[in-house]
Amino acid sequence: MATGRLAGKNAVITGAAGGIGLETSILFAKEGANVLMSDISAEALEKALAKVKQLVPGAGRVEVLKCDVSKESEVKAMVDAVDAWGGLDILFNNAGIMHAKDDDAVNTPEAIWDLTQNINVKGVWFGCKHAVLSLRRNKKTRASIINTASVVALMGAATPQLAYTTSKGAVLALTRELAMVHAREGFRFNSLCPAPLNTPLLQDWLGDDQAKRNRREVHFPGGRFGEAIEQAHAVVFLASDEASFVNGHDFAVDGGLTKAYVTAEGPAPAAPQ
Ligand code: NAD
Repeated sequence: MATGRLAGKNAVITGAAGGIGLETSILFAKEGANVLMSDISAEALEKALAKVKQLVPGAGRVEVLKCDVSKESEVKAMVDAVDAWGGLDILFNNAGIMHAKDDDAVNTPEAIWDLTQNINVKGVWFGCKHAVLSLRRNKKTRASIINTASVVALMGAATPQLAYTTSKGAVLALTRELAMVHAREGFRFNSLCPAPLNTPLLQDWLGDDQAKRNRREVHFPGGRFGEAIEQAHAVVFLASDEASFVNGHDFAVDGGLTKAYVTAEGPAPAAPQ
């Protein structure tokens, strides 16, 4: 008999092969959930699955399924796969991509715009759509859907990343709307808004440029980027019944970044030596 804050719940996580998705898969398994980990990369998924099994030897059901979230037939197959377990209870729409190479009003390539909206926005909508269909089909009266947005949806980023920022703003709007529309069915929808954190996505963007990293970290009141595990803990809360009255929320897990008034000296004094 599973124990934990998510005991017996069936969860699907997209973009589960790395970063926030993998850390959340590990925590979900520790908290007693059955987890279907999905990602566009089958190879990375196999490695991620091995990691979860190694770290959580007593886990319930943990399986993997390749899924490109921009393809509706694959999203449907992913959500429907959990019918055999008793139906979906939790969906974490986490997969996302970022292109930030001078993407301002003039220089954003149209192909990047389309690709980013297809994965970051349409992929989230497909997930929500098939989650609602599954929840109704399985006669669920409570469920939690968490969609990954970003702090760039709450405040403008001076680094040009127009397609990405626009996509994450759309995630907030979509999530809020669905939270209102489906509230009477017991289905909660919340957005997770991470601030930059140490994952491969951030590493790709920063490269080995330590000066660029330092210039960004100084904007955080605590003087550091976040870690994926810190996002995962928030997702466990939103997924659990502890958050039964949390709906339509933009949940910023950002070390205070969105509350910081940054001066030339930086937003916060260093700790006394
Ligand atoms: P990551 O690159 O480590 O993980 C993203 C995962 O999504 C990868 O495993 C990748 O293979 C998968 N993926 C990419 N395209 C996909 C597709 N079409 N279908 C299915 N899977 C796909 O990144 P991360 O930092 O863990 O990002 C997770 C989410 O958090 C993303 O939505 C990202 O935009 C958001 N986010 C990240 C940061 C950050 O600083 N890392 C900050 C704010 C928001």
